[in-house]
Amino acid sequence: ERTRLEALRTAESVTPDGRKVEIAGNIGMPGEAAQVLAQGGEGIGLFRSEFLYMNRGEAPSEEEQFEAYRQVAEAMDGRPVIVRTLDVGGDKGIPYLGLPHEENPFLGYRAIRVCLDQRELFAAQLRAILRASHYGKLRVMFPMIATVEEVRAAKRALEEAKQALRREGTPFDEGIEVGIMIEVPAAAVIADRLAQEVDFFSIGTNDLVQYTLACDRLNERIRHLYQPLNPSVLRLVKMVIDGAHAHGKWVGMCGELAGDPRATAILLGLGLDEFSMSAGSILRVRDVVRKTRYEDAKSLARRALEADTEADVLKLVEI
Ligand code: PEP
Ligand code: MG
Repeated sequence: ERTRLEALRTAESVTPDGRKVEIAGNIGMPGEAAQVLAQGGEGIGLFRSEFLYMNRGEAPSEEEQFEAYRQVAEAMDGRPVIVRTLDVGGDKGIPYLGLPHEENPFLGYRAIRVCLDQRELFAAQLRAILRASHYGKLRVMFPMIATVEEVRAAKRALEEAKQALRREGTPFDEGIEVGIMIEVPAAAVIADRLAQEVDFFSIGTNDLVQYTLACDRLNERIRHLYQPLNPSVLRLVKMVIDGAHAHGKWVGMCGELAGDPRATAILLGLGLDEFSMSAGSILRVRDVVRKTRYEDAKSLARRALEADTEADVLKLVEI
């Protein structure tokens, strides 16, 4: 079985009837790009940049970040790399940022909310990402977007960083794609509007599931309610994909669900364009893609959307 999967490392991620998707890897530190490549990843769908900021006394400098992003861009050798801007707060505390103690940290001061408030911190990161975009195919992605105003404010900050680099004559990729994570139900519901603001979406199911079912992703006591394949979540995923495709934009997924082989056929059938996961899941998901006819996946997805419960969805995909 292992050797059969190994053979898929250089195979295309395509269904027998020709639907092609991209299978990419998630990383936290630059060195992990090698593992994604070793498993046949076609890109980096999520570089969790917050790991560069953790376990230290102060924020990494623009220069240090530039080196980290450039390292990944170069390692991936022209394959796409999505750098997610700083996603702190919630379960990820960083002492030197002075994040307040909050009653509801997952509903509080986190991610893009912090970056739009701490402008210098944000600007340094955006400059570093832009500068590194000269050395490979980088994309930039904003986390935890809930409203159109937030995307517009984040894009303005990016535009200001670009202007400053142009004035200095520092090269960057003028065509760099800009995307947002869809991990707040509000964003999923207005996906058709958000799609007009960006080049792509990536669905963060880890947070989307917890917010949709009002179920803290870390609370063991209510674990039974944390249901990534609940029809409520699948219906939101459908809204996101349909909203993006209506405006010619592509949609990825970088939450854990993207790497769950039980979900692959359904996500394929809903029209997902890119799947990003930990390196160790890539070959198993590619295997499912290569065995699933797109036409069958679409009818499976339709049945999943009509199911009553997550258990019923799981029965549809029992392998
Ligand atoms: C997600 O929420 O699905 C996601 C990918 O982001 P994180 O797990 O880093 O919050
Ligand atoms: Mg998240």
